Amino acid sequence: MRKHILCLVLLPVLLSGVGGQVATRSGISQGIGAADRPNIVFIMSDDHAAHAISAYGSRLISTPHIDRLAKEGMLFENCFVTNSICTPSRAAILTGKYAHLNGVPVFNHIDNRQPMVQKYLQEAGYHTGMVGKWHLGGQNPYQPENGRPTGFDYWNILPGQGAYFDPVMIEMGERKKLKGYTTDLITDLAIRFVANRPADRPFFLMYHHKAPHRNWQPDEKYRRQYENFDPPLPASFDDDYRGKSDASRQATMHIDEDLNRSDLKMDPPPGLTGAALKRWKYTRYMRDYLACVQSVDDNVGRFLDYLDQQGLTRNTIVIYTSDQGFFLGEHNFYDKRFMYEESLRMPFLIRWPAKIRPGSVNEKMILNVDFAPTFLQAAGLKVPADMQGRGILPILQGRPTAKWREAIYYRYYHPGHHNVAAHYGVRTRTHKLIFFHGLKQWELYDLVRDPREMRNEYDNPAYAATVSRLKRQLEQLKKELKDTDQFQDGVPVDDVDGERKP
Ligand code: CA
Repeated sequence: MRKHILCLVLLPVLLSGVGGQVATRSGISQGIGAADRPNIVFIMSDDHAAHAISAYGSRLISTPHIDRLAKEGMLFENCFVTNSICTPSRAAILTGKYAHLNGVPVFNHIDNRQPMVQKYLQEAGYHTGMVGKWHLGGQNPYQPENGRPTGFDYWNILPGQGAYFDPVMIEMGERKKLKGYTTDLITDLAIRFVANRPADRPFFLMYHHKAPHRNWQPDEKYRRQYENFDPPLPASFDDDYRGKSDASRQATMHIDEDLNRSDLKMDPPPGLTGAALKRWKYTRYMRDYLACVQSVDDNVGRFLDYLDQQGLTRNTIVIYTSDQGFFLGEHNFYDKRFMYEESLRMPFLIRWPAKIRPGSVNEKMILNVDFAPTFLQAAGLKVPADMQGRGILPILQGRPTAKWREAIYYRYYHPGHHNVAAHYGVRTRTHKLIFFHGLKQWELYDLVRDPREMRNEYDNPAYAATVSRLKRQLEQLKKELKDTDQFQDGVPVDDVDGERKP
């Protein structure tokens, strides 16, 4: 009896598999042969700032393996996140939509019934996988919309933030405890996914590191590498926020005041105060952070070596990025959330030897919502009209693009753990206008004259025309992107008193 049921269940699956192949063949007539479809590996770490990668000119660290992707592919200087916090960025990447449309404005889970990039790729015949940090829910198997990964042939994720050592992982719904350092283990899983792939189909792998997320626990080997490292101070380390809104002052993510014992892992030497204590805390923070990054870099190298050994390098797209940027002491901050450059900018390196000229650098403004459309383009698929991002395939191939965006829209929703006032804003190549709507305060930065964002020019009469122009642009983008203030403090406005709270 049981066998019969199994057949009934499997039959439609088998039939749809056949359908998938037909779809693939029809794809050939449109110019993309199944054999030519690239594999796609999306490597994402958590909270890895571009300025902690040597290809981006870091003064802090050497990352030869991540740099390899720049040498052999293309580096994007201006890739930005649309909402600088972990969970929302992940949702934007999967859906190609902003938070107000994908329903993940804050630290909540994703409704996994909506369309996502891996589902489109899987439908088109890709073998899909997700290993490592998911962070979009999925721990409660009894709610259909609970954020469990869907559209993946294989998944193995950390629950929530996950642990740095001996992590529990959820493999296809089953909890298992692993032994070892999580950055190494996730790489093992990524390699195993590639090793076990079906030979006749291209694969799409999301290989997501937990590191270097707070509280920055390095493996012993890397900890030792940095234990005497004396990091240079960033130029905006002693920003006193004069002339700025209240947002920076009231945020609780200051190097001198808010790093706690769990972050620092030891007590400061007795008698240390003021600037010396602040510097000591910054040094402690950087040593552990950079050691965690070094381990990510080594593991990226190990994964790239594996692709080489398997002869997969030429037609595999490999991306390295992070879910957002991060402050490494700039403006006296750690963490992210703010629309300031260090938090807004994502590293984005992409290698595809079959199509991308090695050593290319691109300065166009791209966004995390562009990733999903790009994967679909690379697979020869149509980009759904409701995705808000734009595929960058023409840029990768060095083809002329139709008019590219000249301004980007950003929105952060909720004070959250670090009391960062909700804000939205617009960034162009030359300026940035931010409105902290809870505080009803504005900031304007001239990114050409003041790239470190130290002088708020909002009240400077010399910038009056710029402010008016940017305000118009901000409202226009908000409208174009269908942001109608659907969420208030991160809660859907319609549901403030209802049951469906995030
Ligand atoms: Ca993050």
